[in-house]
Amino acid sequence: NVGGIGSWLTRRAEISGEKTALIFPGGSYTYSQLNRRVNRLAHALLQKGVRKGDRVAGILLNTPHFIEVLFACAKIGAIFVPVNFRLSPQEVKTILQDAGVHVAFYHTHFTHLLQPIRWETEVLHGIYVTMDPALSGMESDLEYEELIKGADDSEPGVHVGLEDIHLMMFTSGTTGKPKGAMLSHGNTVWNAINVFLSEINVESNDIILTVAPLFHIGGLNILTTPALYKGATVVLLPRFDPEEVIRTIDQEKITLLFLVPAMWAALMQSSFFDPTRLSSLRTLISGGAPCPLPVIRFYQDRGFCFLEGYGMTETAPSAMILGNADATRKNGSVGRPCIHVEARIVDDWDRDVPPGEIGELVLRGPNICKGYWNNITATEEAFRGGWFHTGDLARQDEEGFYYLVDRKKDMLISGGENIYPTEVEQVLYQHPNIREVAVIGIPDEKWGEIPMAVVALKEGAQPIDLKEIQDFCQGKLAKYKIPKRLRFVDELPRNATGKVLKRMLREEEIKVLE
Ligand code: ATP
Ligand code: MG
Repeated sequence: NVGGIGSWLTRRAEISGEKTALIFPGGSYTYSQLNRRVNRLAHALLQKGVRKGDRVAGILLNTPHFIEVLFACAKIGAIFVPVNFRLSPQEVKTILQDAGVHVAFYHTHFTHLLQPIRWETEVLHGIYVTMDPALSGMESDLEYEELIKGADDSEPGVHVGLEDIHLMMFTSGTTGKPKGAMLSHGNTVWNAINVFLSEINVESNDIILTVAPLFHIGGLNILTTPALYKGATVVLLPRFDPEEVIRTIDQEKITLLFLVPAMWAALMQSSFFDPTRLSSLRTLISGGAPCPLPVIRFYQDRGFCFLEGYGMTETAPSAMILGNADATRKNGSVGRPCIHVEARIVDDWDRDVPPGEIGELVLRGPNICKGYWNNITATEEAFRGGWFHTGDLARQDEEGFYYLVDRKKDMLISGGENIYPTEVEQVLYQHPNIREVAVIGIPDEKWGEIPMAVVALKEGAQPIDLKEIQDFCQGKLAKYKIPKRLRFVDELPRNATGKVLKRMLREEEIKVLE
């Protein structure tokens, strides 16, 4: 193959062939072994009729199969579509159909996701590949090792360029239906360059651990692809278990680790946590959702270097980074743009807002995708005037640090005043009885919208009522920002990154109102 990310692996196999590329439960591959397996898979896909631009889905755990399918697609110009295995069968079906998938790879573990939909889902070549068809009960499916066994392990020789799409990565679906961001080889390359030029700076002697799901951009591109680009070693763990993560860090002498905030919190709360077991780690990276300051402080107080990154699926994801030295000094900031990223804050007419004021964050850079698959409306809405509109509201301080205020879609307008739910939530989080809270806007005849608090109480905490919440907010928030309604839940609905699904809360509430 001539260009694109497939050529990294080809070159790595030549330059660092004997170096360990992947370590996974039960084995490891050198760069040269990995490259040969990828080439075999690429030839097998070609032989099955998969051509440049065709879509190949993967419902896969963090195992070598994921990496192999990613690079095999890259080498023949096919588009890899990783699917979030926490979705419902119906949602998976929508993605497979919307993407017009030619071949689907799935771990036998996820048979329950495919079983109910497979006779209604048109996989164009009708090919399903799994690790153990006998166990899945679908003996007509191809077995992964059978498929690649005997296939040619030479380079497939398909011309692939940086402009070609290699990945259709779905957004987390926090604000609506997940959108398929069309990431090119160039986007992934420039993301890696941004990572290399940031404080993360993956080195060839790094050993990284990938336990955040690879089907989200953070798990895939913050460290995993940059590490394989650089010739470092990637350790894969199929599921997050704090004890297992700590043991792996200790055993494999992991040097760099990316986790989402909820995972960092779970790790420090584990009874297994002991800083000496983590002493090989040189940098800890959080991203994808806001990381609470106590979590950052916990690790910093124990001598760890803690970075926070801001990014999105559409930006592949490197967009901004907050360095270790600034993490507490610039509490709540997501840092400053990566080297190849430009940022502005604009109003509804795309004019720059005055310094310090809140507006929508827009970004530009070679790591940012050009649009969404099969969704012209969303593409035109977000990608316009040469800038990508993030949908995040932000402000900038005098030193150029950015602060996220809220999602534009979550902001509510009550009696003509803007209310940023995050600000209200921060106040309510100080209430001793509240464990989790989400503030949402619900329709109101008089005010247009009114703020409502959806609250989960701490275990064993005394119940509270709306009046008590309102009294608590008195003096801490302007009157119009104080919640006018209250609902209790056991737990807030969240997605895999740990983000609260406010659209779900709003929909439920509107149903109740009707
Ligand atoms: P959808 O676009 O489908 O609604 P999503 O935007 O949550 O879902 P992702 O692309 O996974 O899907 O997440 C990007 C968003 O995550 C950003 O727009 C931002 O709101 C949030 N985010 C990312 N990093 C951070 C961070 N460090 N702090 C706070 N929020 C973050
Ligand atoms: Mg988004």
